[in-house]
Amino acid sequence: MTDVFMFIDGEHRSASGGATFERRNPLDGGVATRAPSGTPADAVAAVEAAQRAFATWSQTGPGERRALLQKAAHAIEARADAFIQAMARETGASAQWAGFNVHLAAGLLTEAASLTTQISGEVIPSDVPGSLAMGVRQAAGVVLGIAPWNAPVILATRAIATPLACGNTVVLKGSELCPKTHALIIEALNEAGLPKGVVNFVTNAPADAGAVVEAMVAHPAVRRINFTGSTRVGRLIAQTCAKYLKPAVLELGGKAPLVVLDDADIDAAVNGAIFGAFANSGQICMSTERIVVDNAIADEFVAKFAARAQSLPLGDPREGPVVLGSVVDMSTVARCNALIDDALAKGAKLVCGGKATSTLMPATVLDHVTAAMEIYREESFGPVKAVVRVNGVEEAVATANDNEFGLSSAVFGRDVARAWNVARRIEAGICHVNGPTVHDEAQMPFGGVKSSGYGRFGGRAGVEAFTELRWLTVQTTPRHYPF
Ligand code: NAD
Repeated sequence: MTDVFMFIDGEHRSASGGATFERRNPLDGGVATRAPSGTPADAVAAVEAAQRAFATWSQTGPGERRALLQKAAHAIEARADAFIQAMARETGASAQWAGFNVHLAAGLLTEAASLTTQISGEVIPSDVPGSLAMGVRQAAGVVLGIAPWNAPVILATRAIATPLACGNTVVLKGSELCPKTHALIIEALNEAGLPKGVVNFVTNAPADAGAVVEAMVAHPAVRRINFTGSTRVGRLIAQTCAKYLKPAVLELGGKAPLVVLDDADIDAAVNGAIFGAFANSGQICMSTERIVVDNAIADEFVAKFAARAQSLPLGDPREGPVVLGSVVDMSTVARCNALIDDALAKGAKLVCGGKATSTLMPATVLDHVTAAMEIYREESFGPVKAVVRVNGVEEAVATANDNEFGLSSAVFGRDVARAWNVARRIEAGICHVNGPTVHDEAQMPFGGVKSSGYGRFGGRAGVEAFTELRWLTVQTTPRHYPF
């Protein structure tokens, strides 16, 4: 018996072979969720259900799609407690983080609802007399969404909300680390009354991810893939998509720099850095990973930053409100401990926190980090943060850009024009002047450059990603032909 089911063609389903897999709680090792080990055949069944539903859903009027997506937003919000419990059990997340997930996921569906009347086009002047020529956006077909565990409600909802608004039907492939959390989203969409086959949900055991994903990417009905997750897996998915010539939106890893210029409001920069570095224990693609501070103010900044970091409440999220809950598993602990060892061996200074022995990891700050240390370039994806000291604006920009990733970034400075010009030079999809690196809103063009991936979610950018732009003409007068 499983705690969650797949959802295919409007029905809850076990895996075709009957196999299941377990997700264990990161703190006590107890079984958090038992879920179906879906097979490539199950995945194809989900795609084919979506393909059948496409004929009707893509022709459903925008008002009806909007009403259903609005209902789905309410159904997500109504499950806030269930999401909070599922996230604490499956990923160790704090109630604050889970609550924010629910809030933004509902916002993503509300924004998607508003987009249903914006899937438009344009009339383009034609040189052919009497030709009415248009560029028309149309639903693409079946969209496959693949989402990770770290912001599970937001990222799985993002994977399907705009695609649905555009008239596509979808298959969501849930994360092996949070199948229950992802299943709750599907439950909410089903309760909202989306017709059968419009939304499908597949789960799989970790070892089967590659085969299950390839079976869907290869299917002719699948016309778009979106993937949020690690750069390592993103590259594999990009290769599979290239093999079958399928367009993809890839939202991958990050190593966000937060630049503190010499004229920054230091308290404002500390507040932004604390939030960006330690929300969800640093397990966010936009997490502040490198704090690039001008030497002129570095001592004051680091002292204030460390004092705040040390005071953040840490504990089992199932027992009460905390800022730092459990990280997702011991591999995060091992990775972060190794980054700390490496940095200290090469001359970094530990300002607060330190190595952890359990998934309850303290907020840790390493000062005087240099390019020789692994933490300078590797994503920690945990609460271990690097401070890199620089001299002047040019060195700050060069340091911020000295990284393979380019998702989010931030610049703090009182001279806003100067900070703006730094922001313009940072190689990242997103940059906030005097704001934190962690910031997401449904209507914004969200996405990265370099190894952080390609394509954009959010607002009009999302509509462009999940529609076909077609050239359609009507010849309104007799047409002249050369022969
Ligand atoms: P992950 O890449 O390990 O897993 C994500 C998904 O990929 C899962 O659904 C998994 O089943 C699937 N997968 C695993 N192996 C596969 C394979 N061989 N073929 C096809 N699919 C496969 O990522 P994760 O550890 O769950 O998430 C953390 C990473 O995600 C971090 O690097 C983080 O920065 C990144 N992330 C990026 C964004 C963004 O918007 N850019 C947002 C959140 C997280």
